[in-house]
Amino acid sequence: MMPNDFKYIVIGGGLAGCYALDGIRSQDPKGSALLISSEDHLPYDRPPLTKKLWFGKKKVEDIFIHDSKHFADNGIEVLLNTRAETVDARNKTVTCGNGAVYRYEKLLLATGGAPRRLDIEGGRLEELYYYRYLDDFLRLRSQVGPQTRALVIGGGFIGSEIAAALNINKADVTMLMHGPYPVDKVFPESLGRAIQQDYVRRGVKIVSHDSPVSITKSGSTFFTRTHSGNSIGADVVIVGVGIEPEMRLAKQAGLAVENGVIVNEFLQSSHPDIYAAGDNAFFPYQALGIRTRVEHWDNAVNQGKTAGMNMVGAGVPYTYMPYFFSDLFDFGYEAVGLISSKLRTVADWQEENRTGIIYYLEDSTVKGAMMCNVWEKVDEARQWIKSARHIDVPVHV
Ligand SMILES: Cc1cc2nc3c(=O)[nH]c(=O)nc-3n(C[C@H](O)[C@H](O)[C@H](O)COP(=O)(O)OP(=O)(O)OC[C@H]3O[C@@H](n4cnc5c(N)ncnc54)[C@H](O)[C@@H]3O)c2cc1C
Repeated sequence: MMPNDFKYIVIGGGLAGCYALDGIRSQDPKGSALLISSEDHLPYDRPPLTKKLWFGKKKVEDIFIHDSKHFADNGIEVLLNTRAETVDARNKTVTCGNGAVYRYEKLLLATGGAPRRLDIEGGRLEELYYYRYLDDFLRLRSQVGPQTRALVIGGGFIGSEIAAALNINKADVTMLMHGPYPVDKVFPESLGRAIQQDYVRRGVKIVSHDSPVSITKSGSTFFTRTHSGNSIGADVVIVGVGIEPEMRLAKQAGLAVENGVIVNEFLQSSHPDIYAAGDNAFFPYQALGIRTRVEHWDNAVNQGKTAGMNMVGAGVPYTYMPYFFSDLFDFGYEAVGLISSKLRTVADWQEENRTGIIYYLEDSTVKGAMMCNVWEKVDEARQWIKSARHIDVPVHV
């Protein structure tokens, strides 16, 4: 092989890319492998960026999945701070920003997602936080102290978690959200309203049913004007309004894409030598009988592993049901299956809106379950969904 020829190339040094290399090595301990990552850090876990790193429960050095010795010992070459610019699917090459060309036998696109930008005046201001990366945490951490005025735009997972983290760090936090209450796409209304009350009780100001129209900077203060005429001043503005799957390479390489890179049950794209996994993969979710994309940790880890194994030829279908988790102050949950506030829900509370299980139903069949401050139930919940458990009447404890 020429020095720039690799059996396996993984583009994207996030969770899916990193665990794909573990999957490859579980099947092929020696085949040459290259990881191309546009970040300047070895692969790390993202969940602590809005949680444990803010609470002193983890230090930055604890969040890396493997150290550089692991990659070296496993014969994996790592290019950090390097962007793959083009993929030539016919000649099986990847060209990087610095002009270097690498040849592959099997390629994985683990390019994840990029934060959605606000398409408003000031939405491209350099200093805004489109919060996703370790570098965002490092910069924000150095800027935030007691009384720092923080505006969090977006009430989804990232917005709600970072608002809680900043409040715990004594910042003066305002949340601006389009929806009626935090995490409204997921929480049924009564739970969402209870969470909102808890935020307000802890001092977080919540501006709901509203959205930004412009952001300007005067001195060191950002002024965010909103549709309903509010003007909110802040020292830092953090935006969490969702992500877009990163599909530039896939499109340029001529792969089939929709809401993500279209893959089959083996996580193989429309080109048999190119795979996709993680936040960018639009895959058949067998247990739910749908094609979807999942933006959560457990999916990225397990899809990455499976894709890596299949790049070697293991032929393992991805039938796994990923769960997700989040922590909002002392309200923590794990959820699996179809979790949408558009579905009918039935709650089995031990303590209302704090401890219990929410079932997400289609007709009366369980499609998803959220375990609120209830732990080690995810496997059981997977069984409820797989066995199409029926719940006919509201459950009470
Ligand atoms: C702050 C935060 C907190 C989270 N908390 C939770 C949680 O509590 N629970 C949960 O279930 N999930 C959580 N998630 C979601 C979870 O972390 C993601 O689903 C997961 O990280 C996705 O991994 P990925 O590898 O698919 O994509 P990413 O993590 O997006 O990684 C993709 C990588 O590819 C790189 N890349 C993209 N294009 C190129 C290119 N052309 N060349 C080279 N490199 C490229 C990107 O820079 C990035 O490093 C959180 C996410 C964030 C951001």
